[in-house]
Parts: sequence; structure tokens; C-alpha cells
Amino acid sequence: MADYTPVLIGAEPLAALVGNIFRANGCDAAEADRIAEHLLGANLAGHDSHGVARVPRYVEWQQAGYVVAGQQAEVVTDGGAFALLDGHYGFGQTVAPQATAMGIERAQQHGTAIIALRNAGHVGRIGAYSEQALAAGLISIHFVNVAGSVLVAPFGGTERRFSTAPFSVGVPTDPPVVLDFATSHVAEGKVLVASNGGKPLPPDALIEPDGRLSGDPHTLYGEYEQVGPRNPANGLGAIRAFGEHKGSGLAFMCELLAGAFTGGGCSGPIDARGRIANGMLSIFISPQHFGTEAAFKQAAQDYVAWVKSCRPAKPGGEVLAPGETEARLKAERLANGVPLQPDTWAGIVGCARKLGVTVPN
Ligand code: NAD
Repeated sequence: MADYTPVLIGAEPLAALVGNIFRANGCDAAEADRIAEHLLGANLAGHDSHGVARVPRYVEWQQAGYVVAGQQAEVVTDGGAFALLDGHYGFGQTVAPQATAMGIERAQQHGTAIIALRNAGHVGRIGAYSEQALAAGLISIHFVNVAGSVLVAPFGGTERRFSTAPFSVGVPTDPPVVLDFATSHVAEGKVLVASNGGKPLPPDALIEPDGRLSGDPHTLYGEYEQVGPRNPANGLGAIRAFGEHKGSGLAFMCELLAGAFTGGGCSGPIDARGRIANGMLSIFISPQHFGTEAAFKQAAQDYVAWVKSCRPAKPGGEVLAPGETEARLKAERLANGVPLQPDTWAGIVGCARKLGVTVPN
């Protein structure tokens, strides 16, 4: 059984190390730092599955040419308050912030904006783009899919048809409310952790080809060695969509809007080069332009307080608004360091050494 005692690394040295890895891998300094900040941000928010654990995979993807350094999101269609951008398989941490910056600028001009982004490298934690819009005082809604990744069974089915298709909404209250999740019952990263002897999966997270529900990672990965790679292509089962028919419906819409509508493609067999790409359809709304900002903020604030005042279901429990767990963890991890599983840390160190990057003691 693997040792799961986490290694604690300070946020700053961790970001510096990851930035140096991407510099050594061929990114310019600004892009390398952006990738590092984004991945660290996911760890700070508690979404370790989308944090620095991704470094070795991102490095391999870049070396294989699946993701390309130095790309700019190219405007394919520009309608003023709407635009379609092509990420040309650039780093998601470059082209998705560019798309979001354009959405913010256009919404500040027109009151609302819709930006469709296709062919982005892995964009990571979607809440980061809601937070980018929140910093400009905007509401934003993001439908995302993963072309070339099919892992999730639709409600009523046992075969994979959806990606983990995440969805995020940010609302500028004080503090802001940020909803951000995958539409799969669990993220694939959580199946990976469970397969290594980490936190077990809920017993109904996965589904076998015969319709039996399962919490056993073998359902997704098939046979695997205790230590070694896990490949979802080897398993016969699927992750279930969250929330029965309703969550499955939301996943469906993410695929249609972020995949079919943007032109990046819905989830499906991995492309001939073996790469995945995110599509993202984002809606930006400026409350100021609607002339409702003050009343909206007051009503939202009051409502958040009222929801949170709800009697907890369990003694000592608490009702939280979306985004609260992330904000709390961020404060805690900035102060005390980021806990990494030993195999995650070993993977980053191994990657750094291969690229000749010094690892601080
Ligand atoms: P999750 O299941 O942890 O859900 C997170 C959401 O639930 C957040 O909005 C959080 O504030 C809220 N939440 C958590 N606990 C709560 C509580 N007690 N009360 C009220 N609200 C609560 O998230 P996930 O599905 O595991 O997704 C993890 C991350 O993976 C997300 O950041 C997502 O964007 C990312 N993701 C990215 C991709 C991609 O292709 N780029 C694909 C899938 C997921």
C-alpha cells in the first residue's frame, strides 16, 4: 500500500519550481509563470486533481506537440458582443485567460458578451475564469467540454458518452459566490487516487457494463499493477454523471455548447494524435450596465446570508455557499503550505531533474 502521508510544500517555492519546469520545457517566462500560478491556484482551492499533479502530463503533452507553447487565441468570428476564438492547442492557461479577458472587455462595452473558445489545451480549474470575471465585477457562466476524452456514462446508460464536462458560474457578491464542478459524479483524478489506495470512491460513482454500480477503480481502469500507470482505455465501465437525469442533462448541454457549437468537437474517441482539447462557451454579464447593480448586490447578499442561516442537517454542521470551501482552504494553504501526495511530489521532482531544473531542499 502506498504511503499517503502528504509532503507540505510552501506555495511560493512550489510555484517557482513549476514555473522553472515550464521555462526549461520551452515556454517563455510569462507563460511558464501563468501555468504555474494556475496549477497552484487549483491546489490552493483544494482541487488537487487539477493542480501541480498535472505537471508531468503537461510536460509530456508539450514535448509530444499535443499542446503548443506561445500560441495566441485567434479570432475566427467577431460580432462585437460575441466572438468565436480558436486556441490552436495552445496552453489552456494562456488561451482561456485571453478569451476571458476579451469577454470582460466586450461586456464592459456592451453590457453582455458571449465568447466561444475551441481547441484549447487543458484549461484546468474553470473557477479561475469565473474569478477573472469577478475581479472585473462581472457575472460569468462557463460551459466546458473535453474533446477527445470520453469517460462518463449518460443517465440510463452504461457506455461512455460524455467527458467530465465542467461547469462554472461566478456571481459578484461580497464574498463572491463561485460554483465550479465537473458534471461527472467524481473527477477522474479521484478514481486515480482511490486506485492508489487513497480516499475510496463512493460506492455508486462508477457503472459496470452490466449496469451494476461500483466504487471499484478497476471498473474504469481494468487490470493494473499496484504501482504504475492507469489507463481508462483498459476499463470496460464508466464514471456516472452526477445528479441522475439532471446532472446528466447538464453534461449533455456542456458537450453541445462547448463542443458542437464552438466547433471544437464533442467528447469522443481520442484524436489521431492522442490529444485532448477543451472547448468553452462563456457568457459575461455586467450588472452595472443593467442598471441594477446596487439592488442586485443587496438582494444577493441578503439571500446568501439567509441561505447560510439554514438549520444544519447535522449537529455542528454548516450550510456553505459555493466557493466558500475553496476560499477557506486557500487561506489555510497559503499560510501552512500545500499538501502533496508523495507520488505527486516525486513526479514533479523527477520531471524537474530530467529537465535540469534545481529542486529546492
Ligand atoms: P467538487 O465536487 O469538489 O465540487 C466543487 C463545487 O462544490 C464548488 O463550487 C464548491 O464550492 C462546492 N462545494 C463543495 N463543498 C460544498 C459544501 N459543503 N456546500 C456547498 N458547496 C460546496 O468539484 P469537482 O467536480 O471534483 O471538480 C474539481 C475541479 O475540476 C473543478 O475546478 C473543475 O473546473 C475541474 N475540472 C476541469 C476539467 C477540464 O477539462 N479542464 C474537467 C473536469 C473538472
